[in-house]
Amino acid sequence: MHYAVAHDKILRAVKGTTSQAGEELEDTQYQRVSNSFARRQMSQQQIEELEQLANTSNVVLKTHRRNYQSFVTDAILAEEVNFVETKLSTWMASMEKRANRAQNKKNAQATHTGMECCCCFDEVAVEDMVSCRDEGHLFCVDCLKSFAETQIFGMGNLGIDKETKKRSLELKCFHSDGCASGFGRSGLEKALPKRSLEKYDEVQFILSVEVAGLDDIVSCPNCGYQAALQPSQRVFKCPVIDCLYESCRECGEAAHIPL
Ligand SMILES: [Zn+2]
Ligand SMILES: [Zn+2]
Ligand SMILES: [Zn+2]
Ligand SMILES: [Zn+2]
Repeated sequence: MHYAVAHDKILRAVKGTTSQAGEELEDTQYQRVSNSFARRQMSQQQIEELEQLANTSNVVLKTHRRNYQSFVTDAILAEEVNFVETKLSTWMASMEKRANRAQNKKNAQATHTGMECCCCFDEVAVEDMVSCRDEGHLFCVDCLKSFAETQIFGMGNLGIDKETKKRSLELKCFHSDGCASGFGRSGLEKALPKRSLEKYDEVQFILSVEVAGLDDIVSCPNCGYQAALQPSQRVFKCPVIDCLYESCRECGEAAHIPL
């Protein structure tokens, strides 16, 4: 069995599947995984599903034992378990985030301290909203996330620039007034999960190369983020929030004056 397929099967065995769909399913899975984390062991059902998997797989879990902690005996398997655990904890973190947002929303609505999302018109906690750069149009992170993901995964581009009528090089505000502003980097980082943000960067990079040509592409020496930079600019200010490194375009060292 191919490892990627095996990974998915292990994850499914641990998370479980039901006849539910979408968020409801994820909530059930979240309960199940956090319960087994809390007890430091898996439920009978989870173990049975893993055993079933082991019987149909000749690569993975051949030597698994009943106990979650001690069933790792060989190196390959240890790697597998590590991989799955990392994947699981990433997923747990995103589920926790979602639960927190739901709670924030409840609080905001109860205390009337929220703001109205320009897209779904729900009252949402301000900390879970992102505004467009120039006009301050507020969107809840869920709306921004689904808008951005539809665009980058569905269309493979960042939409049309309303002013130039050409392919936009950044995601534009989707307020119904037809706002021409984009979003700041921090807003995108807040709304998009890592995988989507990477896809966004990739789409933006490809578009930039198409429009600007390879000569104008610079990459941050600190984090590797790539973007188009006007020929007139000598200093590249990395927009990635964890980085913000300023580098010299010519030598790749920290930005220096004189140039
Ligand atoms: Zn919304
Ligand atoms: Zn706007
Ligand atoms: Zn950087
Ligand atoms: Zn330099």
